[in-house]
Amino acid sequence: MRQKIIAGNWKMNGSQSFIDDFSSQLQPEIEKLSERVKVVLAPPAVYLQQLGDAFSGSGLGLGAQNVAQDDKGAFTGEISAAMLSDIGVEYCLVGHSERRTLYSETDQMVVAKVAQLIEKKIIPVLCVGETLAERDADQAELVVRAQLEAVLSAFSDVELASMVIAYEPVWAIGTGKTATPEIAQAMHAFIRSVVADKSASLAERCAILYGGSVSVATAAELFGQLDIDGGLVGGASLKADDFKKICESMD
Ligand code: PEP
Repeated sequence: MRQKIIAGNWKMNGSQSFIDDFSSQLQPEIEKLSERVKVVLAPPAVYLQQLGDAFSGSGLGLGAQNVAQDDKGAFTGEISAAMLSDIGVEYCLVGHSERRTLYSETDQMVVAKVAQLIEKKIIPVLCVGETLAERDADQAELVVRAQLEAVLSAFSDVELASMVIAYEPVWAIGTGKTATPEIAQAMHAFIRSVVADKSASLAERCAILYGGSVSVATAAELFGQLDIDGGLVGGASLKADDFKKICESMD
């Protein structure tokens, strides 16, 4: 049975007082939610410690949004996997489309980051997805396959055993245009088949999350699809009540 995961990506939002409010609303619910789904929150790095403390012992998975490609040294502004691990981070997004687009993150850099995370036993949440132009040009599968294969070919099945994949069509991120359950399911099945080309057992175990304007209204139908094992939620994860309802949509 694959693990069900709902991860909230706060991006560059939040503050200490926001975390106080958010955790006072969500903390009492987390234990119950954790019976049905692994709940992960990825705040900006400066707030990881505060969020971790606020949810300490609750079962919440602490997630980072990014990690350095190198292990230590003269890399001003970077945060290493060892540092994330040191403060209890269990998950880390890699290859989010905003990083690929705004910070020119290449597949090679993504592979280097995944290597750092594997080394420190942090679960990589590998984000893949096509732009609207790529989908319109019938290139969606080609693009997603290339993003996946870059990572799949760089590591062994054992190294990738805990990896999570998030399918996030770029055209659905932050736009309010959720992929239809049919489009999402078709791409999730495709992603699983690409993983299966490397290892059938890895494909069977690998949680594949959908991300892109997930909302209270769209979550249940998306999560009801055969190959959708949860969600990566941006905007809606900043509202404690919505995020809780989204977690409750997972059966
Ligand atoms: C994201 O950035 O990972 C995301 C899915 O954002 P949103 O839910 O706001 O589209």
